[in-house]
Amino acid sequence: MYQQSLSSEYTDLSLEETGERIASLKQRLGDKIIILGHHYQRDEIIQWADYRGDSFLLSRIAAQHGEAPFIVFCGVHFMAESADILTNDNQTVILPNLSAGCSMADMASIRQVERCWRDLISVFPEDQIVPITYVNSAATLKAFVGAHGGSCCTSSNARKVMEWALQGGKRLLFFPDQHLGGNTAMQMGYDPDTDMVLWDPAKPFGGLSQDQMEHAQVFLWKGFCSVHERFTVEQITKARAENSGIKVIVHPECTMDVVKAADLNGSTEYIIKQVSQSPAGTSWAIGTEVNLVHRLKNEMPDKTIFCLDPIVCPCSTMYRIHPHYLLWVLDSLAKGDVVNRIVVEEPVKRDARISLERMLEIS
Ligand code: SF4
Repeated sequence: MYQQSLSSEYTDLSLEETGERIASLKQRLGDKIIILGHHYQRDEIIQWADYRGDSFLLSRIAAQHGEAPFIVFCGVHFMAESADILTNDNQTVILPNLSAGCSMADMASIRQVERCWRDLISVFPEDQIVPITYVNSAATLKAFVGAHGGSCCTSSNARKVMEWALQGGKRLLFFPDQHLGGNTAMQMGYDPDTDMVLWDPAKPFGGLSQDQMEHAQVFLWKGFCSVHERFTVEQITKARAENSGIKVIVHPECTMDVVKAADLNGSTEYIIKQVSQSPAGTSWAIGTEVNLVHRLKNEMPDKTIFCLDPIVCPCSTMYRIHPHYLLWVLDSLAKGDVVNRIVVEEPVKRDARISLERMLEIS
């Protein structure tokens, strides 16, 4: 999808002027809109969010507010798709900037996944493999797993979903994030060297030999989050050396070495909960997106909180939701124009909903 350039009517405005106009439009549109803000959005966006959360929590909130005709989702493309899948037919989901995608979600296309599946079922009976997709994926991939007996998962419920998939000795195909799949399988007791293999979608049969395939229980797609892969064991060692008593907490999209070296790991919501509930005076080095880490630091001045990666680098695609774009979509709505609507067409929507509902049943 193509994002049109904004006119100077918006781009020439200062942040302050932009904020004043957003505030006035928000008041004018009232109950017609709900603004959702992902935790990784910048503060200049989060301040306008009626709700903030991780991707799945926000989609569920959208679905619970069936009375709101317009959902303005300040996040990335796959999140707005999930919201459209879960909301009712009378609701319209809007993504302020269509170029706000996710590099990890883009690492698995439906054509690649279908080819991988054909390879796998040429070796194993189809009912012995379960496909699982992280919610950070396109709607077409969610639909694929829905139609093939699999499920979505989030970073909060990945373990429960994987335990469900692997029961009875079945094999698991996990996409698009190798690290969430690998870290979760490791915590479930699977050996990274003998039980897991990395599936390279650029190679026939994932680049695996017949022997490697037959011995593997967990097939991990060769995808990753460019933000979370930045964190290293060296950063953890340095943080500990310079701050006695510090706790290191990271997201499971980090590499296995980093997750093993950290004190705690878990979803964005888990990280927020752990840090928020810790006593005053505690120190935290956090391995997740920097906008969230800075917000936690500002909200809890009685604690020492910093990002493990000293080179501040936000998620570049989340960052594309600039306040000028939020103003533009609200201004358009106030004029009766719906811009940047995200629509998941049938039958993709139907099958994707199956995969999300299956996840909710499991977890
Ligand atoms: S932080 Fe990583 S997984 Fe999340 S939207 Fe950005 S690139 Fe995608």
